[in-house]
Amino acid sequence: MSQSAIHSAASAEVVIIGGGVIGLSIARSLALRGVRDVIVVEKNDFGREASWAAGGILAPQIEADTSNDFFSLACASRDMYRDFANALRDESGIDVELDLTGTLCVAFTEAEEQELRSRCVWQRGAGLDVEWLTAAQARALEPSLSEQVQCALRFPNDLQVENRRLVQALLISNKKLRVQLIDQCAVQSVQVVAGKVQGVNTSQGLIGASSVVIAAGAWSSMIDPARQIQVEPVRGQMLCFQAQPQIARHVIYSSQGYLIPRADGRLLAGSTTEEAGFDKSVTDEGVNKITSMAREIAPAVAELPLIDSWAGFRPRAADDFPVLGNSVEIEGLVYATGHYRNGILLAPITGELIAETIVSGKTPEALAAFLPDRFQVVSTKSELS
Ligand SMILES: Cc1cc2nc3c(=O)[nH]c(=O)nc-3n(C[C@H](O)[C@H](O)[C@H](O)COP(=O)(O)OP(=O)(O)OC[C@H]3O[C@@H](n4cnc5c(N)ncnc54)[C@H](O)[C@@H]3O)c2cc1C
Repeated sequence: MSQSAIHSAASAEVVIIGGGVIGLSIARSLALRGVRDVIVVEKNDFGREASWAAGGILAPQIEADTSNDFFSLACASRDMYRDFANALRDESGIDVELDLTGTLCVAFTEAEEQELRSRCVWQRGAGLDVEWLTAAQARALEPSLSEQVQCALRFPNDLQVENRRLVQALLISNKKLRVQLIDQCAVQSVQVVAGKVQGVNTSQGLIGASSVVIAAGAWSSMIDPARQIQVEPVRGQMLCFQAQPQIARHVIYSSQGYLIPRADGRLLAGSTTEEAGFDKSVTDEGVNKITSMAREIAPAVAELPLIDSWAGFRPRAADDFPVLGNSVEIEGLVYATGHYRNGILLAPITGELIAETIVSGKTPEALAAFLPDRFQVVSTKSELS
């Protein structure tokens, strides 16, 4: 259902292209900072692409073997989630089901055990909370784990969120904050004159704005007037089983995939990592791969009815890291894309840092490693003016 339509001669202080968790988080953060004139433009329904398809795992530690700018950003965002979830509940009345149980990573082979051992040593040395579990200890926590599990790591600070509820909460919160939400409206191009953003050309007409944020997920490159970023879709398939009673408490990772127990008895299993363009099919190959991964972790999955499956497009930039911050080529153009496998995790910090960028006119230090100018521009400046 259409949220809103464009009135003639529409304009705003900030236009955000894309109504996934990233665009919606930025809009909310801007509104909370007092920016009163924000429009989010979504080509279909809000939050129905990657943000809907995702698993909602908020787990920067589970695969981390070294500290870098991305790890710091991801941990900072995870650590914002309790306040983020509480604030969203107050603003929207929706509980985003933030789950504090923690995550487990299990090993089936000597090589995997060695990998977990090194991760444990490094993370403890870095002062991070991580627990080493023998097979018996792991099965005491999660009785459905396979007898083949040799050992596990538990990350007590990692979280999960129900990402579809998160989308709903962000939508209601933005409406209450008087952000204008326009769906069924595709941005065709960003209008640029003499190196400055003027607004966006859409399927419903022009919206004038001095700031435009590209938060269009896997589609971001298609509307990038600076031709600076190459964001590609990476398909991920997911399966959903009915587990009543639930067979796990933690999010459980193996080297092949993961299980995500939801509070309502669904058990999600994912995923695949495929370059398939914008083809959103769920394939037999994908279903077989995910099913065998899930049964390897917990053989009881074989008894569970498969009730749903879907696929979505992770937005991946050329170096796998997010693209966040002002364009140096075009005044008023801001990027917030390329969140790849971690956009749900990074939503709160992206919202805050991009809002700060726009309101203060300065680049926060935490964004220095993620600025778009790390990529070469394909076009020349004269083409853009
Ligand atoms: C199977 C799968 C599992 C995942 N699991 C996790 C996880 O457990 N944890 C995690 O943190 N991340 C996970 N991710 C990644 C996460 O989903 C993404 O990084 C995140 O959703 C990106 O959010 P976004 O708002 O940038 O993109 P999207 O949610 O894709 O939103 C972009 C929006 O822009 C709109 N749009 C595009 N072009 C235009 C245009 N021209 N005009 C107007 N609107 C436009 C689209 O319609 C879309 O709604 C997963 C992804 C997949 C696919």
